[in-house]
Amino acid sequence: MAKFPEAEARLFRNVFVCRKCKTKIRAPMLKVLAGKVKCRKCNSKAFRPIKKK
Ligand SMILES: [Zn+2]
Repeated sequence: MAKFPEAEARLFRNVFVCRKCKTKIRAPMLKVLAGKVKCRKCNSKAFRPIKKK
């Protein structure tokens, strides 16, 4: 399934998981790093990339 590296990057790199409630959020990495993205469920700003490890 790694035929399209760009598509994969789009699918995974812009998806973050809320550290509190595990909600998945799709947002540009720059915005997340700048703290401009809030979890819509718990308003937390703590996100981690969806692919950890
Ligand atoms: Zn949350």
